[in-house]
Amino acid sequence: MALDRVTALWERAAARGVDGVVITRAENRRHLTGFTGSDGIALVTADEALLIVDFRYVEQAGTQALGFTVVRTGNQRPLEALAALVPARRLQRLGFEADGLSFGQHRRLAAQADGTEMVPLEDLDHLRWLKDAEEIARIARAAQIAAHAFEALLPRVAPGVPERDLALELEFDMRRRGAERAAFDTIVASGWRAALPHGQASDKVLQPGEMVVIDFGAVCEGYCSDCTRTVVLGRADARQREIYDLVRRAQEAGLAALRPGLRGREVDAAAREVIAGAGHGDAFGHSLGHGVGLAVHEGPTLSPREDAAIAAGHVVTVEPGIYLPGWGGVRIEDLVQVTPDGVRVLTPTGRELREMG
Ligand code: ZN
Ligand code: ZN
Repeated sequence: MALDRVTALWERAAARGVDGVVITRAENRRHLTGFTGSDGIALVTADEALLIVDFRYVEQAGTQALGFTVVRTGNQRPLEALAALVPARRLQRLGFEADGLSFGQHRRLAAQADGTEMVPLEDLDHLRWLKDAEEIARIARAAQIAAHAFEALLPRVAPGVPERDLALELEFDMRRRGAERAAFDTIVASGWRAALPHGQASDKVLQPGEMVVIDFGAVCEGYCSDCTRTVVLGRADARQREIYDLVRRAQEAGLAALRPGLRGREVDAAAREVIAGAGHGDAFGHSLGHGVGLAVHEGPTLSPREDAAIAAGHVVTVEPGIYLPGWGGVRIEDLVQVTPDGVRVLTPTGRELREMG
């Protein structure tokens, strides 16, 4: 499998006229090589695939990175070891991930690889967009674990409990159920704080009548899940139900539109026009969704700026929201696999408005 990915990387790189590619970003390195360690650099050329690691990772890299020649760094950092390898290979144009090197790293590498032109490659992350069956199974498992932990947490979502306690319990329970870790810092945003789209759990204590946005995800074998549910503490009032139903209709419109061939911005528009049509367009200030995989936020995005076409095998979220300062907010987020004729929902939690207690 890793070798197919080397071929795909090489085709993309060769189209840009480079004769070597450096991979430093953790998710790309893992995807390309199969190596799960936290440090290391891959160098792919027309006739070599090297994985440069320090002594801690030599054995692990040899087992995991099939098809790669493992190069031990000695007492250098991997980037210094890489720079030492470049001159002997007489590379004319060396590609690197445009978001992968810091300014300092780029400067040091360019100085050492004197005579080699450094070529930033913008789209190497796209190689991760299409998921194979094993990747989808891992994402689905992460979504299942997170959903079970969320169901177990719900009885505790009640007035008098601090947001932070709920986030802690959810993350602990996801790990107990087999997650490696939480995919991101769990969001628990209640009452007025629910108007903050990324309101991380705080010391605020839940109050009767509030809506609570809970955004959570697990990681299984490196792959993330992402799901949001909004619940109400007590019986929903008319306004809460109206906003909730509007967000839910927007999400259904997005899910119904989502299929291969559509551009990301077209899917975004399908959901956005439902919210805008009800007069709340300004209150939905983020994208409809994003890809999920080794990174919890990756491409393709479902946003007004995304021209890329959706394809079967992409895994994306669909997460419209409405945020009204002073009142609160509602977001409903599901994770789906794009199939040849639509979507398969990977997040098993029901979307009805839950009235707690
Ligand atoms: Zn989320
Ligand atoms: Zn998300």
